[in-house]
Amino acid sequence: MSGTECQEILRELEVYLDGEMPAEEAARVEGHLAECSPCFQRQEFVSNLRRIVREKCGRVERLPGAARERIRRAVAAENPEPE
Ligand SMILES: [Zn+2]
Repeated sequence: MSGTECQEILRELEVYLDGEMPAEEAARVEGHLAECSPCFQRQEFVSNLRRIVREKCGRVERLPGAARERIRRAVAAENPEPE
């Protein structure tokens, strides 16, 4: 098991969990997860975290609502809308 492959899998985990990954790629990730318990545990952790966030927000969010709102305000402060 190469560390490089683990890094690739972990980098692609978000896309995989979003279901936005082509079936071919998803199969590769699943194959790796089946053989690599650290990556599998990581996948379980991220997937549980996302489920909790989704249940709280009622939809899939990359960031919790509070963080999004903070960013939105920061951006608005930098770029005040013309009156
Ligand atoms: Zn791995």
